[in-house]
Amino acid sequence: MSAPSPAEGEVLLSVREVKKHFAARRGRRGTGETVYAVDGVSFDVHEGETLGLVGESGCGKSTLARVLTGLYRPTSGSIRLRGVELQERGARKRIRGGLQMVFQDPAGSLDPRRKLADSVAEPILGAGTGKSRRERAAQMLERVGLDPALGARYPHQLSGGQQQRACIARALVSDPSLIVLDEALSSLDVSLQAQVVDLLRSLQAQFRGSYVFITHDLATAFELSTRVAIMYLGEIVELVPVEVFQSSTLHPYSKALIDAILVPDPEIQRNRKALLLKGEIPSAAHPPSGCRFHTRCPYAQEICMSDRPALRLYGPDHWAACHFAGELPFSTRRDEPVA
Ligand code: SF4
Repeated sequence: MSAPSPAEGEVLLSVREVKKHFAARRGRRGTGETVYAVDGVSFDVHEGETLGLVGESGCGKSTLARVLTGLYRPTSGSIRLRGVELQERGARKRIRGGLQMVFQDPAGSLDPRRKLADSVAEPILGAGTGKSRRERAAQMLERVGLDPALGARYPHQLSGGQQQRACIARALVSDPSLIVLDEALSSLDVSLQAQVVDLLRSLQAQFRGSYVFITHDLATAFELSTRVAIMYLGEIVELVPVEVFQSSTLHPYSKALIDAILVPDPEIQRNRKALLLKGEIPSAAHPPSGCRFHTRCPYAQEICMSDRPALRLYGPDHWAACHFAGELPFSTRRDEPVA
């Protein structure tokens, strides 16, 4: 497969055939099985872009986030940031700024015994003097809309929204090229989510940084992303610019995710023919043969049970992994694969 990458812009992050497999455990014992959490994922992220990585719980997106940020070592594959292979010893330290991550649970990701300013300055520990680090932390707090005086407080003295802003300040403090946001809005209520989305947009406009925005919520991904990659059971099944995705999706799983978004008009909601997903996502320790989605796909045919569909290019920047992409009843585009 050639690189799933848009035609324009500098490539910042290049991910190729990345796998992360775990030994399955029950309690403290290994079961002898393998969990195929991430299983051959490839994509690029460009300068100034937000790539939304979307899928149900259990699809491998959070494992992938941890692989990208170096918390897990991949089983195989390549991750390059500005052309530098991140698996090489010391590579992550050599790259200025590098990658930072914002987690789902802000309370859990701030040290309860440290003052906020110290937590925010943590990624630049060892750089400059204590005074310069404190000043930098104060600048970052201000940049995310917090009073720098809050730097003297402990996490439990802040609201959830303030804690998440502080986590974003910490991610920004080392001037990273890319921030991975792993369900970073999920613990916030709807009005706070909207505020943080606005904040992330304005920060991106100022710094030209890139985001990988990981979420189970397709509607939120649409708000923030340039392109979306849909993940199912460790694989990317569709990768497409947001403006194309909503009108001409090619994969049945993506179609089901779109149809799960409620339409505000109850009349339209009642009358539309939604593709509903049946059942649960299968275990990543026992992925179905062929197309991994075949056990839930209403269009599955014999070939789907035996042959794994490759991610193929169907139009400008539009990749899909389905034997019948473009031929299914909901398809609005009839492109033949071009790669
Ligand atoms: Fe459904 Fe077959 Fe396409 Fe998989 S390859 S999504 S099972 S039609």
